[in-house]
Amino acid sequence: MKILFTASECVPFVKTGGLADVVGALAPVLAAQGHDVRVMIPLYAHIPQSYVERMEHVVDFEVQLGWRRQYCGIEKLEDSGVTWYFVDSKFYFGRSYIYGMGGDEYERFGFFCRSCLNALPLIGFQPDVIHAHDWQSGMVPALLKIQYAHLPFYAGMKAIFTIHNLQYQGIFGIKEVQDVLGLGDSLWTNDKLECFGCANYMKAALVYADLITTVSPSYAEEIQTAYYGERLDGLLRARKAQLYGVLNGLDVVEYNPATDPHIAADYSVGDISGKAACKRALQAELGLDIDDNVPIIGMVGRLSNQKGLDLVDYIIGDLMNRKVQLVVLGMGESRYVNLFSWAESEYRGRVAARFTMDSGLAHRIYAGCDMFLMPSQFEPCGLSQMIAMRYGTVPIVRETGGLRDTVLSYNEYTGDGNGFTFFNYNAHDMLHVIERAMKYYNEEKDVWHTLQERGMKGDYTWDRSAARYVELYRGILGEIPLPDPAIE
Ligand code: ADP
Repeated sequence: MKILFTASECVPFVKTGGLADVVGALAPVLAAQGHDVRVMIPLYAHIPQSYVERMEHVVDFEVQLGWRRQYCGIEKLEDSGVTWYFVDSKFYFGRSYIYGMGGDEYERFGFFCRSCLNALPLIGFQPDVIHAHDWQSGMVPALLKIQYAHLPFYAGMKAIFTIHNLQYQGIFGIKEVQDVLGLGDSLWTNDKLECFGCANYMKAALVYADLITTVSPSYAEEIQTAYYGERLDGLLRARKAQLYGVLNGLDVVEYNPATDPHIAADYSVGDISGKAACKRALQAELGLDIDDNVPIIGMVGRLSNQKGLDLVDYIIGDLMNRKVQLVVLGMGESRYVNLFSWAESEYRGRVAARFTMDSGLAHRIYAGCDMFLMPSQFEPCGLSQMIAMRYGTVPIVRETGGLRDTVLSYNEYTGDGNGFTFFNYNAHDMLHVIERAMKYYNEEKDVWHTLQERGMKGDYTWDRSAARYVELYRGILGEIPLPDPAIE
């Protein structure tokens, strides 16, 4: 099969969150199965020079946006069996940021979507399936169906759209989007592009894609309800027959405690002794009191409300009354930067917080901590809890989305489970579960080791999910019947 991915970020070139991990890991897995997989992302100024030097210029052309014409270059790099294309526009992507600040996001990503489609005949690639990811690629399925499908070159192409996070939709003024993408008045009704008086790139994709996926079965269910649906639940319910939840995998080579170059000592499920050295090294690196017996709780992730940090805010005083250390790595809202900066100075030697993007430190935290806390308000899939488990760090999570699908709370009667969970979005429920985890850590070491082992033995490879995506691609191409979304 010929498959094109379009996305706004992708490891190892540029990453702000889990989307980049997913695109960067899934594409090579599909390629290894013999598919012709190509990926298009913007050529941001952030992409390291070492990659830019390896790129080869393929073609350039002009893209019409309203009355303007903009240069677009297509650069390419081949690696891991995948052809990676970079959409080059210094005007839109040669900036000091990846998302956000220019106020012209509709135009930047409108340009990106249009360029991806326009480039295809010029680079001589006619995909069977275009797999677009998140709102930045949302206009790819919409433009394909509205403006390109009548052209013989595009006529048979199918479009799949994956929701990595429904909260970010790309909402803009209708006039601006109409101007840039040339979408006539008749398209702006609420069964097509209009969405509560605005243009919405995510909604456009949800209407026009042949099939929709999201990154866990639970999130696929949840987003059909008003609480999690971010005002698109009605549309998602209407499309539920084409809405699938496919759980993400991990890059198990990158995240492997047995071979990880970032951590102080290697370890594996057969011999976990190196983890103690990782813990000591982490305490030393972050200026924490060196103590083998105090449990360290780690948190790595965007400092946003989604991640449930207000719950931590409520109980941080109570939590720090216990014998525990807390390590936080993340970037985001100033409210939480202030909270954890304050906590670091208030509880010297017991709390450490770093507000940078540092993947080496992230690895050392996953390896050096005993517990990993992720009390998310909602969580489409979540990679961090899976990474933590792979490093023998026991997850404490809220039962939502992908967290619910990957972490099963320890049951003292049956012995089942691989972590600790709570259901209600409530700070004291969370504190109670942290205390429960601490009890097993302090008093029942054998249970603790069983939980660590189960986490480390878990299957986080992409194999099962990649097989599911292939099934869906073949299904929309009519080669096989599509599976029932309700059955995983
Ligand atoms: P989301 O996609 O919502 O941000 P995920 O858990 O799916 O959350 O993925 C987050 C990924 O980004 C994980 O691989 C995590 O380790 C990484 N990450 C998040 N913040 C940082 C940071 N400040 N430094 C290094 N890695 C980070």
